[in-house]
Order: sequence, then structure tokens, then C-alpha cells
Amino acid sequence: MALIVQKYGGTSVADTERINAVADRVARMRAAGDLMVVVVSAMSGETDRLLKLATEVDDNPLARELDVLLATGEQETAALLSMALHQRNCDARSYMGHQVHILTDNIHGKARIRGIDGDRVRKDLDRGRVVVIAGFQGVDEEGNITTLGRGGSDTTAVAMSAALKADECQIYTDVDGIYTADPRIVPEARRLDRVTVEEMLELASLGAKILQTRSVQFAGKYKVPLRVLSSFEVGPGTLISYEEKKMEEAVISGIAFTRDEAKLTILGVPDQPGVAYKLFDDIAAAAIEVDMIVQNVGADGLTDVTFTVQRADYAKAMNILKKVAEELSAQEVKGDDKIVKISVVGVGMRSHAGIASTMFQALAQEGINIQMISTSEIKISVVVDEKYLELGVRALHTAFGLEKSPESST
Ligand code: ADP
Ligand code: ASP
Ligand code: MG
Repeated sequence: MALIVQKYGGTSVADTERINAVADRVARMRAAGDLMVVVVSAMSGETDRLLKLATEVDDNPLARELDVLLATGEQETAALLSMALHQRNCDARSYMGHQVHILTDNIHGKARIRGIDGDRVRKDLDRGRVVVIAGFQGVDEEGNITTLGRGGSDTTAVAMSAALKADECQIYTDVDGIYTADPRIVPEARRLDRVTVEEMLELASLGAKILQTRSVQFAGKYKVPLRVLSSFEVGPGTLISYEEKKMEEAVISGIAFTRDEAKLTILGVPDQPGVAYKLFDDIAAAAIEVDMIVQNVGADGLTDVTFTVQRADYAKAMNILKKVAEELSAQEVKGDDKIVKISVVGVGMRSHAGIASTMFQALAQEGINIQMISTSEIKISVVVDEKYLELGVRALHTAFGLEKSPESST
């Protein structure tokens, strides 16, 4: 008898027909003896619909109230799934995040889980009930409803699995596993049987939306047995692995991208101590996250600094930069919010040379200009014009032989 935590994403519970299909699977597994906890997302499109409603009332809605509103999406599906289970003679109980004590900090809209008290869930499981939990939400110390950021139901499921020491956490979605690149962009992308937690963390944080980054962090911390599968077809999916990668496996595991980028440049600032501090201190004070930073080699006592931020923060960052430019008597500020970031990821990079040159050659052959580059031990990212996103991702996928089996691509 295994304890299984399953999570169903928006497309998997998009309508009552699909909710019924989920109930069929869950009821079948419960009848076969497994203990079942099911975390659900809102029906697909529902969170966006609620967000739009909020902005119709206030274009800058109060974060606390927005969370109260957004949390209702998951409440709907949790109740419907529980009803569907009862319909199948399967005893079930649905709960909101706060009812199962998913305690978070108070950062509305991107709250972090601090702890989960699994007692209530365990009591129901002991009585043979299926526990259905509304994903994406928690409660802060003062009893306010919080949400965990877009894609946050993944994190609810993984955190719940860690708290209950589940035998497996199964993330059911609209693709049958984790691919070498988003299959919507690269049709010849290949499903991976396994991916190391380190690589998945990098892929997720560089834009692969298949798992929320925090869910992967949680999984790594507690070594949660985690699998991504399709809710529409039967198959093994992709297992997150906690073992070291074997030498003979592919050097590059996958390609990720984000469209959500913008860059800003300040030209002709004094090349002297304190300038970067002044600039990034003001940006940080406005709670804007900076990703890449490039400073040119100074000439004639002046230098240029370019950095990237999330596209949503572009206007705010530009206003701050203009102010700083005045204070520093900079020559000019420039910006571009039509850029994207493409990254290749693989732990094998540590022991292989030539990955960067293969990457740059593939982009050059397509006539794609690289605007910025950043590297770490296991990834290389480039910033390019957004019109080259699809072309760039596909070119890199081919250049690293990712459509082939891993044995032949090393
Ligand atoms: P859910 O609503 O089930 O949480 P998401 O839309 O959040 O589903 O995540 C699934 C989507 O992630 C897929 O439809 C796919 O387009 C996208 N995706 C991005 N990168 C990858 C990847 N490397 N492998 C598989 N899917 C990916
Ligand atoms: N419903 C939320 C979202 O759309 C959370 C989730 O689906 O994981 O982002
Ligand atoms: Mg998701």
C-alpha cells in the first residue's frame, strides 16, 4: 500500500469531463489500496480570468485581496473533484490550503511555504478517505490567505509529499514528461526518462514552465520521489533523479528559454568605485530583480553598464535608471524590451570543453546576433532579439543532437 500524492494542472481539470476522468483514475487507485492525496490547480484559464476581473476594478489591486480572489480558482476544482469521487463511491474530503495548515510567509502573490502540519491529512487517510487539496495557496501567521506564485500548485504537491513522506509525487500535466525543450516550440524534442534534480532546477529557473522552480528546490531539499506524467495517456513520464549523472549520458540535457526579458544600458558613467553600487542599490530598493550584468572595459575614464530585468519591471527600472543617470552625469540611457533569453543546460558541461563554441556557431549560422552572454558551471545563456526565439531554440536543439538518443549525442 503506497502513499501517492498526485497533482493535476489546469488543462487536466479544464472542464467537468476531465475532472470526471481524474476522479476515475483516483478512485481506481484508491480501490486498489493506495492512499491518495490529490492537489488540484484551477481550471485552465481561470486564474487569468480572475486576474483580469481584479484589474477591471483596480489596475493595481491590493495584493492581499488579489490572493483571496485567486485562491477561489483552486477551491472550485477541489470541491468538484471531491464530489466526483463521492459519485464513484469513493470517500473524499476537499480542503483549502489553510485548512491543512500550509503555513507561508506573508509575501502575497509569491509566498514561500514555511511548514505543513500533515496531521489532518493523515487522519483522513487513516479513515480511508482521499484528501483533495486546493493547490497554489496557503495561509500566513495572521490567518491571511496567500498564494505561491504562478504554477504554485506544483509546489503544494511536492511540499505535501515531503511533509507526508509520500512514496511518490506525480505531477499530471498536458505533456507526457519533461522534454529536451518545450515540445510546443521544438516538435522533434525528446522525452527524457530521467533528469537530475540539479538540471531540472536550472531548466525551471531558466524558463521551462513544466515545473515551478520552487517545487524543484523543495524536491531537492527533501529528496521527494517526483515524476511528471501525462493525464491523457499512459506512460512512464519523467523521473527526477537524485543520483549523479553517469559519464556516458548526454552532455546537454535540455534547452530552456524565457520571453520575459528586457535590457537596460547606461552609457558613459564614471569608471570609478561606487558607481555600480549606486545603480544597483536603487534598483534593489525598488524590489526589482536583476539577472545578467555586463560592464564594458572602461575608456577615457568612462564605462557602460548593461543589465537585464523581467519585462514587467522594465518601465519601473527605466525610470530609476534615468534618475541615476542624471545624478551620475551619465551620457545616455537605452533600453530594449523585445529580447529573450535562451539557455542550454547540462551537468556534463563541467567535464566537456567546446559547448560555448558549438552554441555560438549554431546561432551564427542562422544569422542570430548574440547581445549578452552569461555562464555558470552547468549552463550557458544568451540574450537575443525576440524574433529569433523559435529559430534559435531549434538551431541549438539540432546542434547538440538532442533529438537523437543520449548514447549517440555524446
Ligand atoms: P499545468 O497546467 O499542468 O501545470 P503547465 O502549462 O504549467 O501545465 O506546464 C506544462 C507545459 O510546459 C507544457 O505544455 C509545455 O508547453 C511546457 N514546457 C516547457 N518546457 C518544457 C519541457 N522541457 N518539457 C516539457 N514541457 C515543457
Ligand atoms: N492556478 C495557478 C496558475 O495558473 C497555479 C497553478 O496552476 O499551479 O498559475
Ligand atoms: Mg504548471
